[in-house]
Amino acid sequence: MNVTQITDILTGKNVSEYYRLFRETQWYDEGQMKAFQLEKLKKLIMHSYNHVPFYRNIMKQQGILPEDVRSIDILKEFPIITKDIIREQFNDFMPDNIKEIKGSKTSQTGGTTGGILYARNDANTRSSIWAAFKRFEDWMGIKPRDRALILMGGHVIGKHWKDRLKKTVNLYLRNCVAFSPYDTTAANINNIIRALKNNQFELIRSYSQFLFSLAKRLQDENLAFDVRAITTTAEPLMPEHRALFESVFHAEIFDQYGFGEIGGVAFECSNHNGMHITEERVIVELNENNEVIVTDLDNFSLPFIRYWNADQAIISDETCSCGRKSKLIKKIMGRNCDYIIGLNGEFLHWAYFWHLLFDSDVAEKRNLKKFQIIQPAKDRLKIRMIANPLTEDEKYLLVSNIQSRAGMLNIDFSFENEIENAASGKYRAVINHLL
Ligand SMILES: [Zn+2]
Repeated sequence: MNVTQITDILTGKNVSEYYRLFRETQWYDEGQMKAFQLEKLKKLIMHSYNHVPFYRNIMKQQGILPEDVRSIDILKEFPIITKDIIREQFNDFMPDNIKEIKGSKTSQTGGTTGGILYARNDANTRSSIWAAFKRFEDWMGIKPRDRALILMGGHVIGKHWKDRLKKTVNLYLRNCVAFSPYDTTAANINNIIRALKNNQFELIRSYSQFLFSLAKRLQDENLAFDVRAITTTAEPLMPEHRALFESVFHAEIFDQYGFGEIGGVAFECSNHNGMHITEERVIVELNENNEVIVTDLDNFSLPFIRYWNADQAIISDETCSCGRKSKLIKKIMGRNCDYIIGLNGEFLHWAYFWHLLFDSDVAEKRNLKKFQIIQPAKDRLKIRMIANPLTEDEKYLLVSNIQSRAGMLNIDFSFENEIENAASGKYRAVINHLL
């Protein structure tokens, strides 16, 4: 019996089965994958029609019968659902046979857009997500029980003692060491550094921004480590992140994409041409603004059929040189709501500020570890930084660049010891109080 089979028994999941399947399906051609998706979509729509009031009403209105589903193009006849729609009609998204759905769990999810949503998934969905992740470990050259350092909160470090015990056993079985990225005290950071010195980690899983701050500190102390692979999550992975991680950890960097409501959406392979969409699990569409719309083929406890989230993405038409035919997400452009509105109506995206700070060399010169841009009023902007103080010239450079795009905003700087995360637990680079 291997580790995955043991954890399956402990957690009531069936990761092993999904994993075996996904190892085969990763080589499917387009036709095979479409057929595979269609079978799953038929079941999802049948279930939604029979058991989920929201979808039953929609299908009746649209005149769609479950037996009409002959192609995945049927999705176009479904409306796009949003976080607000689910929040407002949460009861109508509750399947009337929820008690028969194994391992249904409701949890809170936030995301960088801030609004809290109660999301729900089930044992099947979690198994499928984990199986996709296990396959991703294969792509990264990571073997089961290779030692891993985990710097992510929420999913890994539970709150209730039962949860914590389960996680501790799980971490032990998986040979992982975990630290909370929400604890930025010197004690926690020193413990992480000690762990890095005392262990040969093959894998680091972390939030991008937390690992970036840590890597900066390690670089300052002239410390370097040999880690095989790094994968980040929750926040976009920027080219500057990759470069620093490669130099401090000598590691190969692998991006992945998923969000609170729908996990395991896409993973980067070792040919690094973008992230392969987990087509066995999800159908990804883009709207006219290149915003992501996802159908989760596994989740029966809260069916997400054409769920819009605020992320923008570029999906490539090219196939990857690795031979897998699944579509590639080339880039996630961050989230729609994370922007500042100029006096001239111009939108400034968080990535603009990121690039401004790096392209102006301010980030490097002033040892920038974290930043946050806040718009408290129409004509005001506050730039919070964990960095060495900027010179007047540097401030002028940043201010004049922002003003040239967004009009004559009053901009002030504040240098902080810490920038706290949002109530959802995630770091937000831009907070706009006008929205
Ligand atoms: Zn590939």
